[in-house]
Amino acid sequence: MAKAAFLDRDGIVNIDKGYVHLPRDFEWNHGIFTLLKALHERDFMLLLCTNQSGIGRGFYDFRTFCKLCLFMQQTLQEKLGFCFDKIYFCPHAPEFGCACRKPKPGMIERACVDFPQLCLRDSILVGDNYTDILAARAAGVGRKFLLGKAKGLLWDDERTIESLESILCVL
Ligand SMILES: [Zn+2]
Repeated sequence: MAKAAFLDRDGIVNIDKGYVHLPRDFEWNHGIFTLLKALHERDFMLLLCTNQSGIGRGFYDFRTFCKLCLFMQQTLQEKLGFCFDKIYFCPHAPEFGCACRKPKPGMIERACVDFPQLCLRDSILVGDNYTDILAARAAGVGRKFLLGKAKGLLWDDERTIESLESILCVL
């Protein structure tokens, strides 16, 4: 069975400046390269799961989002020699009521269809919003890491972290 690390984008991969959609505003988060490298070495598939309601709200379009993905993937490939195995995104505004926007587990469930060998119990999620934790909990992801403070109750297999590097100690 394979295992995956589901990573949120804004606030985890890059600094969350609100609706980041241009490479010039994309600032890599402290410790992200170290974390990705460690996950890759431990055979975690790297799956990005990101709410991109900026598309549904009309702040930027799908093409612009794809260009930023390409920039991110190319930079990772150059720096680390690998990049995300797949990028999942929800383009919908909240009022659309879709099944993919976190806290719903749609993106993680989609990954299980794409990668049937994936074992969610062995997988982890790293996010900076309580909604990331809820999505992973609903899908059945084994362990969840929340960067920053929790705005709700955490279960046994869920914990807050103060830095991305602190995950390395418990992998
Ligand atoms: Zn959606």
